[in-house]
Amino acid sequence: MDIPLIPVPAGLDTELFCLGDGALIHLPEVLKRAFPDHPAFLVADENTWRAAGEKAEKILQDAGYPVAGKYIFPGNKRLHPEYEYCEMLSGKFPAGSVPLAIGSGVINDLVKCASSLVKMRYCCVPTACSVDGFTAAGAALVVNGTKKTVKCPAPKALCADVGILKTAPAEMFASGYADLLTKVPAGADWVIADIIGEEPIRQDVWDLIQGNIRKWIADKDDMLAVFDGLAATGYSMQMYQESRPASGAEHLFSHVWEMENLTRNGEDVSHGFKVGVGLLASTLLMEFILDHTFEELMPLMKPGLTREERISEIDELLKAGCYGTAPKETALGKHLEEEDLAARRQLIRRVWKDMQVRVKERLIPYSRMREILQAAGCPVTPEEIGLTEAQFLHGIKTAQLIRHRYTILDLLYELGLLDEALKTLAVMYR
Ligand SMILES: [Zn+2]
Repeated sequence: MDIPLIPVPAGLDTELFCLGDGALIHLPEVLKRAFPDHPAFLVADENTWRAAGEKAEKILQDAGYPVAGKYIFPGNKRLHPEYEYCEMLSGKFPAGSVPLAIGSGVINDLVKCASSLVKMRYCCVPTACSVDGFTAAGAALVVNGTKKTVKCPAPKALCADVGILKTAPAEMFASGYADLLTKVPAGADWVIADIIGEEPIRQDVWDLIQGNIRKWIADKDDMLAVFDGLAATGYSMQMYQESRPASGAEHLFSHVWEMENLTRNGEDVSHGFKVGVGLLASTLLMEFILDHTFEELMPLMKPGLTREERISEIDELLKAGCYGTAPKETALGKHLEEEDLAARRQLIRRVWKDMQVRVKERLIPYSRMREILQAAGCPVTPEEIGLTEAQFLHGIKTAQLIRHRYTILDLLYELGLLDEALKTLAVMYR
């Protein structure tokens, strides 16, 4: 039987990608090719077990493929990507087995990290077209209370059955689509970092995502194209060994809200819905740059802070105490003052027009992006994801502290314009 394989760029951790309607039937062959003679150890939660786990186990057994055991998380409440689960899981994998992650983003991230802890490679059977992390090098986990991307290899093989992906709740697909849309402003963030000289664009990685993104997002109902796009986004992160190609300021907002345990009506809000609202905010902040000349903005630029003043500002932003210790160090590590800040502002002034042209080229305007998200069934206001106006704005300012990665937030902060630019977000409350 021919396996529906999708080509994967050479030299990555991921070597085999089987995608198609009914693809699960090929699971034994995928495992045989990628992990000769390794018995499978299945990991799912009760929901994904029902959606695909039982069927996968039966297909393996019928094909005579050895199964070494399974671990099923309870399905009654949403599973959190806690690092401790990875340590627990890694102790359960029998030596010489191949962990098989059957689930959506969280299960995949847990198994990805757990496998890497014991130097095993794993296979992923996605059950929802919900995030771009399936094929990424790195797992989004909560470590000591802080949301982090923990470095670990992507799955060696994936077996994605569109028939199973379609059975996931529509909300999960909408969420995956929103995550794919973030590559639009994330590309603009990388342009900004490139022009400032903080992080040059790497062409092959850039082309893989930015050269195809408009095609992948063209039809919100085309699950094959969307999953293909999400998978490619993961490859780009494997190639770059970092999440930069797939993640800009909008992902940083979402990390902050996650650390604050954002819920709506008692339920966690999906990754895609958080970054979807985040990408609208990010787009508006970029439009603030596009709408003005540098000289127009000069009277609005606040003077830079001394290190002591910055420390008080950071302490105030982090006073809720739920962000761990890393953000303060990170933020102080990139603090600029006096001549350094003056030189940075001069540099930004020199590149301003070029930056406007290149950012505009990448962006989809806010009003259009909002329509696209709404049509796909995604939330578009902070309120719809459970954020008060104050928490929304606080998250955006705090997001600038948590990573070294240079984004629109750093640009605005260094110019003393972040508070001014935040005023443009008022259109999102309506
Ligand atoms: Zn994402």
